[in-house]
Amino acid sequence: MVTNADLAEALFQLAESHPAGDLRLALLRTAYAVFDHPRELADARRLPEAAALEVMPALAMLRSCRTPDALWAAAHRLAGPNRLRASPARQGFLTAAEARAAIASGTGLDHRQLRGAAHWHTRASDGAGTLEAMARACARRGAAWGVVTDHTRGLACVNGLDAEGVAMQGAAVRAWNHRHGDDLWLLHGLEAEILEDGTLDLPRRARSGVLLVAAVHTGLADRRDQTGRLLRAIEEPGVWALAHPRGRLFARRSGVRANWEVVFGGAAAAGVLIEINGFPRRQDLDPALVTVALERGCSFLLASDAHHPRHLAFEETAVALAARAGVSARAIVNFAPLDHIAAARPDLDLP
Ligand SMILES: [Zn+2]
Ligand SMILES: [Zn+2]
Repeated sequence: MVTNADLAEALFQLAESHPAGDLRLALLRTAYAVFDHPRELADARRLPEAAALEVMPALAMLRSCRTPDALWAAAHRLAGPNRLRASPARQGFLTAAEARAAIASGTGLDHRQLRGAAHWHTRASDGAGTLEAMARACARRGAAWGVVTDHTRGLACVNGLDAEGVAMQGAAVRAWNHRHGDDLWLLHGLEAEILEDGTLDLPRRARSGVLLVAAVHTGLADRRDQTGRLLRAIEEPGVWALAHPRGRLFARRSGVRANWEVVFGGAAAAGVLIEINGFPRRQDLDPALVTVALERGCSFLLASDAHHPRHLAFEETAVALAARAGVSARAIVNFAPLDHIAAARPDLDLP
């Protein structure tokens, strides 16, 4: 069978085989429509609505291929002046159909049993929703606890929180818990920036009572090994999780290079969680690296990295990545009750 992953990859390569212009754009749009389609098209009656009209005949022809060999033979016939080429920045991502199948495969990870909705943003940094709107959306999804993690000021590209903003958000979190804590308990977190030397952009005195997810957003195109930078960040006081460890983006960049066995070994020793970020264009970590982290003894945080209430569902992609790697619910903090976090972090304001 030709899967959506095969079809989408053929369409991406076809797009890149054509010079910049309408045809290339139409092929790209169609490639993304196939990649994001929730069902395998080989079994579907209709082609995705988001596919570009002018590319429909080519898509129908590619979809009718019975085997990957036949698909690639057809792709070569349709190719433009440039050679068809795979890109490492597209490898190790699940299509929406694969993510759905991984969740349905009965691995013991049931996203309906998630208790904690972690790593999401509000209008206080670069999110679209208020704290209340995001918290209500977490509660509607069935979460018992949630961790807001807006960006800190050090991240130059977004509107991060300064010390005053952090204090104001802390007060808003306490006010929510006072009124709605029985439905959903909010934990105050921050997404801190890992600087070039591996230290964080947040002074130590500002870290107490806050769940820090530490993330790399700079130097992502640097081809040098960044193991030392990540190890230093893991050792920083107050770090709860290493967020989107690679910093990769689908079809754009493969992210940082590091000796991941060493990084994950360091995280396991320091009791720092390894995040599996389910934002579909991130999928960071991929199942192969999740397996390495699991072998090094790591525990995991599943993140939606939501910037809008609708994005909270991206935690399901994180569940799919964990399921593909064979992680059990016991190794994932989001499946645990709030007391589990309380035991590890006496500095937090918990019920
Ligand atoms: Zn981030
Ligand atoms: Zn984030």
